[in-house]
Amino acid sequence: MSNQTSPLAANHDVLRVELGARSYDILVGSNLLADTASHIAPFVRKAGVVVISDATVAERHLPVVLASLDGAGIAHREVIVPAGEKSKSFAVFEDVIEQILAMGIERSTLIMALGGGVVGDLAGYVAASLLRGLDFVQIPTTLLSQVDSSVGGKTGINSKSGKNLVGAFHQPRLVLADTAVLDTLPRREMLAGYAEVVKYGLIDDPEFFDWLEQNAEAVLSNDGAERREAVMRSCAAKARIVSQDERESGKRALLNLGHTFGHALEAETGYGAKLLHGEAVAMGMVIAHDVCAAMGMAPAGEKERIASHLKSVGLPVCASEVPGMHWDIDRLIGHMSRDKKVRDGEITFVMTRGIGKAFTSKAMDIQKMRAAITRSCH
Ligand code: NAD
Ligand code: MG
Repeated sequence: MSNQTSPLAANHDVLRVELGARSYDILVGSNLLADTASHIAPFVRKAGVVVISDATVAERHLPVVLASLDGAGIAHREVIVPAGEKSKSFAVFEDVIEQILAMGIERSTLIMALGGGVVGDLAGYVAASLLRGLDFVQIPTTLLSQVDSSVGGKTGINSKSGKNLVGAFHQPRLVLADTAVLDTLPRREMLAGYAEVVKYGLIDDPEFFDWLEQNAEAVLSNDGAERREAVMRSCAAKARIVSQDERESGKRALLNLGHTFGHALEAETGYGAKLLHGEAVAMGMVIAHDVCAAMGMAPAGEKERIASHLKSVGLPVCASEVPGMHWDIDRLIGHMSRDKKVRDGEITFVMTRGIGKAFTSKAMDIQKMRAAITRSCH
């Protein structure tokens, strides 16, 4: 991974994800969309581009992208799916695949994902599947997708049996993270992505967590230097971890800090608007620090420091804050043992010795874990 200034323009930073033949650049900067054509030019052939987006994002941001492609004479077609998690379904996947095949594409057609994590995951899996694999470019438009889902190559859709159970590893050829598009993102969605930003500090970068305590509001509210730095540092953290463990056999598991508890909360709320993923992760990270403090491995008081930071920006930190939910602790623990992170019947937990000191372990004190979950829920 390297960090350099691109020769194309000085208005963005470049981060290289080193994955051998599958290496790619992440560009982070303001108003990159207006220059889409010049950024994707190295990957465009005569067959042109198919842009996949959702209706909400397309309305706000597709015209700028298309104007750039038109200006450069790049042939393009569009497929627009409904906004929301429901588009990560077999039905929408089939529909998108059939629409694109009916266009008469070639192996050299480039797929472009313009949207949040839903569009990125769906379009990436469409690209992986069509003609046994087309190149694709990610243009993430939510904070969550800029700092998390667009980096790392995981693509896929949901099944009746659970989320993200059908998919493929398919690395993008390029990621364009335009920080200006976040200005149209609702605050609640922005905060959900911010929880994943905080996660990177908590995993292995305590200085980043300190920095976020000072700069959170600037990151969230203005398309300025702080936002760009937060996105860069988050992508760098994810890229660093993914480069060391592309297929999730070890280190990549650290990215699941707060997620085992978070997924249990999400599963109970039905993965809907009641509780966004990032909100569940915020609660999950607090539970993880709480149980590790109770087990005597993390300093007491850090849980409060983390919770008070998350709270200061407006994130919920306790499961009890979810309106209308009466949590059943046994059911939550049941969800955890059905999580994808279970291997050979054992759950790998992301534990912590304090801020910036996460590690994985199977040695969980189940009584203390139950008590920490109960504290969050009541
Ligand atoms: P999302 O894609 O549903 O976007 C959230 C909402 O914001 C949608 O309604 C969307 O239309 C709208 N939106 C997007 N960009 C906007 C903008 N700039 N302005 C205004 N509105 C905008 O959700 P998300 O949070 O980006 O992604 C969640 C998905 O990502 C989940 O399906 C999750 O499983 C997946 N994910 C994947 C990975 C991975 O490694 N592949 C990692 C984390 C999450
Ligand atoms: Mg996550």
